[in-house]
Amino acid sequence: MRDAEFFLRWMTVAGDAVEREADRLTELDSPIGDADHGSNLLRGFTAVRAALAADPAASPGAVLVLAGRTLISTVGGASGPLYGTLLRRTGKELGEAAEVSDEDLRKALYAGVGAVAQLGGAAPGDKTMLDALVPGVAALSGSYRAAADAAEHGARATVPMQARKGRASYLGERSIGHQDPGATSAALLLGALADVADADTDTDTDTDTADAS
Ligand code: ADP
Ligand code: MG
Repeated sequence: MRDAEFFLRWMTVAGDAVEREADRLTELDSPIGDADHGSNLLRGFTAVRAALAADPAASPGAVLVLAGRTLISTVGGASGPLYGTLLRRTGKELGEAAEVSDEDLRKALYAGVGAVAQLGGAAPGDKTMLDALVPGVAALSGSYRAAADAAEHGARATVPMQARKGRASYLGERSIGHQDPGATSAALLLGALADVADADTDTDTDTDTADAS
């Protein structure tokens, strides 16, 4: 079972990844966008960190709802409302339970990704964050690491696609040949989840060892 602490760590590790990769995300947003994806997410996740530090969100659902709301209110670009909706809807699905199962989270994320598709009107193949999120969440039935790998693979697969949604779509065929920045950050988000889940498993093992000795 995963508690609020697990979700706080997810948001923190995701923020660290955004900080580390912000320049690259902005570079990817240069040829097919307006060169602000890294700075958008950096602003958003910095605010998420501050909001979660100020408010003792007591449940997994509350952590994600607060993080989502914060992204919606602090990120001006298209990605803020979209990622905000992903987290807020996922959090709402998790409800108020103090602990949630991996199956609960899988179903909630599935609903969250559905809400992103509904809000943005995009589908896989349109060269957006959904090209990483949809295969990523589908692979969650395997493991968090499988989901992260599928999302990473999905992000790379956006290179030959022509953008049909968002700012990149204005470029038409000239959007071909570049990796989508939002698909790239979506893979970071699921990568952070896998990192936190791996660390959680390690901790469990340590606890078992300590119990046994
Ligand atoms: P903006 O495009 O407003 O500058 P960002 O640069 O922060 O916002 O985010 C761009 C990313 O948002 C794109 O790379 C794409 O993945 C994602 N995106 C844009 N429009 C949509 C949409 N309608 N549905 C899903 N994702 C979208
Ligand atoms: Mg942009």
